[in-house]
Amino acid sequence: MAKRDYYETLGVNRDASEDEIKKAYRKQAMKFHPDRNPDNPKAEELFKEAKEAYEVLSDAQKRAAYDQFGHAGVDQQAGMGGGGGGFSDAFGGIFDEIFGGNRGGGGRSNIYRGADLRYNLEISLEQAAFGTETKIRIPTMEVCEHCDGSGAKPGTQSKTCPTCQGNGQVRLQQGFFSIQQTCPKCHGTGRIIPEPCPQCSGAGRVKQHKTLAVKIPAGVDEGDRIRLSGEGEHGVNGGPPGDLYVQIHLKAHSVFQREQNDLHCEMPVSFTTAALGGEIEIPTLDGVAKLKIPMETQSGKVFRLRGKGIKGVRSHAHGDLLCHVVVETPVNLTERQRELLRELEESSRSNSGHHNPRAKSWMDRVRSFFAAS
Ligand SMILES: [Zn+2]
Ligand SMILES: [Zn+2]
Repeated sequence: MAKRDYYETLGVNRDASEDEIKKAYRKQAMKFHPDRNPDNPKAEELFKEAKEAYEVLSDAQKRAAYDQFGHAGVDQQAGMGGGGGGFSDAFGGIFDEIFGGNRGGGGRSNIYRGADLRYNLEISLEQAAFGTETKIRIPTMEVCEHCDGSGAKPGTQSKTCPTCQGNGQVRLQQGFFSIQQTCPKCHGTGRIIPEPCPQCSGAGRVKQHKTLAVKIPAGVDEGDRIRLSGEGEHGVNGGPPGDLYVQIHLKAHSVFQREQNDLHCEMPVSFTTAALGGEIEIPTLDGVAKLKIPMETQSGKVFRLRGKGIKGVRSHAHGDLLCHVVVETPVNLTERQRELLRELEESSRSNSGHHNPRAKSWMDRVRSFFAAS
């Protein structure tokens, strides 16, 4: 249903005075008030319509907008858009201007915070575990010394933009609406430079490099970011600078793999040590540690050394070192060594798999598999 004209709803002329509108609304409200018309949806509807019309026409600003643009001019103001959210949003900016919103002239809206920058830093596992300090070199835009940042060739000056008279904004008429836009000539700065500085081509800034010291806290992990506040790109027109984020990447380690704060490593154990037991030396981040291998240790067994991992940067909890046993088959045997092994083999066989429980259970399963099929 199309919305009724507000003046029609209240039954007044378009040039009705405030008083006339008030009186007309009272009359309607009394007539259609829900208390007087219980269980009458039509009356309720009319009451609401009158209320809405009064809310708009009793407010000088809203009434002016309604007179100019019709319902489209006040729907958002009256808060009765009725599902026209996108529409209201699209018109929001324009109403700000029409109703004298707090939009200051003169390019205030062209002050921007500088962009954040990211720097990818690769460090070793040890550096991540214990923390380190390093220097990074990053590109930056610095004030041009030749023109002192003005962008104008020394001896010349910038001048007020003739297109926007220094406002940085221009008004465009589009149908009913007047729309403000950034001045295309000066890009919102309000000034133009007739003779640009040859050093910076009028930008007022030049590309340089700066070296920064970065402290890497102990325990950082792949993907962690360290923020260097204010070390990002410079702001525009006096805006604050952005931040620099140093993103940590860990180099692959020759011995350890990291999983959160735990370290994993593969630990080759000789065939005889695995069978007879013994002590082996294992590397940790803070030196060599000794590990007792019990007899009959199997491949795949994992030994956990508590607290020998990495101390987390946030949790401060120590991770563990997990050593994964890989029993190694001996190679390059002498004739004598082979003979000893053959002897071992023969004596084991007479015991029908008692010495190789895993192989035995596997063979048993294979046998029953063939028997079943
Ligand atoms: Zn310059
Ligand atoms: Zn301009």
